[in-house]
Amino acid sequence: MLAFFSQDLLAFEASDNAWPDASATFFVGIPGTAPSGETWDAAFKRAMAAWTTATNFNFVAEDQGGDPCAGQNTGALGNGIGGVGFADSRCGTEFGSNVLAITLTTLSCTNPGCTGKKDIVEADIVFNANENWDIYSGPLLPQTSEFERVALHELGHALGLDHESSAIAIMQPFASNVATLQPDDINGANFIYGGTISTPSIYDIPIKLPGKTSFSGPDDVINFAGTLVTSDASLENKFIDVYQLTFENDSEISVSLSSLQFDPALILARITSTQQLVPGSTASDENLAGSSNANLQQPIAAGSYWLGVTSVTAADTGSYNLTVNAKTASENSSFKTFRSIYGIDVEINPNPLIKGALRSNDQKFDNKFIDIYQFEVTETVTLRIDLTSSLVDTVLLVVDVLSDQQLGSVFLRNDDSGFSTNSRIEASLSPGTYWMGATSFSTNDFGDYQIQTSVVIP
Ligand SMILES: [Zn+2]
Repeated sequence: MLAFFSQDLLAFEASDNAWPDASATFFVGIPGTAPSGETWDAAFKRAMAAWTTATNFNFVAEDQGGDPCAGQNTGALGNGIGGVGFADSRCGTEFGSNVLAITLTTLSCTNPGCTGKKDIVEADIVFNANENWDIYSGPLLPQTSEFERVALHELGHALGLDHESSAIAIMQPFASNVATLQPDDINGANFIYGGTISTPSIYDIPIKLPGKTSFSGPDDVINFAGTLVTSDASLENKFIDVYQLTFENDSEISVSLSSLQFDPALILARITSTQQLVPGSTASDENLAGSSNANLQQPIAAGSYWLGVTSVTAADTGSYNLTVNAKTASENSSFKTFRSIYGIDVEINPNPLIKGALRSNDQKFDNKFIDIYQFEVTETVTLRIDLTSSLVDTVLLVVDVLSDQQLGSVFLRNDDSGFSTNSRIEASLSPGTYWMGATSFSTNDFGDYQIQTSVVIP
């Protein structure tokens, strides 16, 4: 789903920092026109608008010039003005060879030690004036750098993204034929700013993970607006958006879908961590023909569900509003735990999203606190399991277990393949029973974590 790499090949690197209010202003007044005839400003503003439209992040353009180098290299926190322009050096130091542009971000510490995540308070973008530039779509032309896609890339750094090397992305370290924002770019920005992330599914329908995907009760509500569009996946000739939601406990849910533009229909189905639908867990509501609402009200078992938003009539499109309310039915109703033969408790948790915490009274493995979750694989599948925490340098373990709880032949361990000190394991797993362990690199580390399992589509 997401990968961040720190390869400073094209440009200055932003770190895992973010704008506190998910918004950044650029003063845009770049003199001149591209050989294509279009102004640089028009292309830059289009690139800003592309990020704003596609993600939870907001770029604001002020129609006046801002010198990107003003206040840089002075030891001050910039000059408070996000500027953009051409220059023949990176504000005093030479551009390295092949460097097309740089983004200079100014960071502010939020704690005395200046550790961990920092606030971005200013970003400035300098395009290398020694390059030959134009604005055009399509494949890269020889000896002609393309301004708008580099602007998209630098704006990605400005909002807090690093380079991406494992997926097709505008955030790849080199300028390429990729000229527009790609799903991975959008996911990256939304990952930082709490927007909806899209993940592939085995049914060829991308699954949307809203900024709030988990309902922990006792009385939780989320609202979101969406739009059925012709580029959506379709099911029985009807366009569909599928949201993945996780309920930590048995719940009474109330789902309401409304649209003024199409006759809406809802589908709800429970899924396992390998995206298999759980038989008998499906519900749907279409209401009367012509009604602008679809509703579901029912008790559901704790677990992860896909909620499909679609239309009664084939090929309908339009905007909709979705409200999901979940009331915890029983606080003690979450997932069953048993004591394993190794003396460590195992929670049977078949869900793709697990929120947990290493605690100082947890059991220990290898002298570190550990939580173990059991899940089943029913057909061979490639899974990507991300264990993330802002408090713990995580270590993720995946083992297969036989019916007598003896360990099988699979033993996977990862420390830091995820972003920062987070862990990621990607592996093809055969049918069977597996345990995954969430633990830490250092002894006596504890704190909240999240495990997200996604299916990797070949
Ligand atoms: Zn870059």
